[in-house]
Amino acid sequence: MFTPPPVHQLLLTRTENRPDRPFAGGLAAFITIHQTGNPRPTANAHAHARWMAREAPYSWHATIDDREVWQSLDWGEQGWHAGDGAGGPGNTTSIGLEICMHEGIDEAVADLNAAWLTARLRLDGHGYEGIVQHNHWTGKNCPALIRAESGRWERFLEQVARFEEVQTRTALEDRIARLEARVTALEAARAAVVEPPGEAS
Ligand SMILES: [Zn+2]
Repeated sequence: MFTPPPVHQLLLTRTENRPDRPFAGGLAAFITIHQTGNPRPTANAHAHARWMAREAPYSWHATIDDREVWQSLDWGEQGWHAGDGAGGPGNTTSIGLEICMHEGIDEAVADLNAAWLTARLRLDGHGYEGIVQHNHWTGKNCPALIRAESGRWERFLEQVARFEEVQTRTALEDRIARLEARVTALEAARAAVVEPPGEAS
């Protein structure tokens, strides 16, 4: 049974490593998947979030490991993560998600957590043009481990689709439950209304 990871925030306050500009219409057309390339055992999501807040020369939206998500940028704001320049389509139209790959991480769980977050962002309207690898923008070999394993990227996309389905269904069920409660309340109110006197004849 999958348990969604907690989403913590350590939003950037300095502006040297980000354009400080919203996406057109406040929505990212794409979601770009990266892997950190950092195998050090301590290089988890929280460590990357702290590094980005303090000194990293670039910026991405969230870092994901096998336990949690650390968000660093508002979802509607541009970052510098795609390596295609300040005006490049990767930076100006996509949310960047970094999946950790440190020694000891459960990679399958980290992939699942990232797929869950990607689905959530898509339900909010982001990524309407698609989900792409960093490789799509510049040809860089990123996300390296996902790219190195045959079928792993396809599996990731399938997981996103499944999470989208489940989250859509849950949202619909919530909506139906709210509507049903409203109907019940309206019926109760109608039953309580005293019949008004008819027209005088
Ligand atoms: Zn990358």
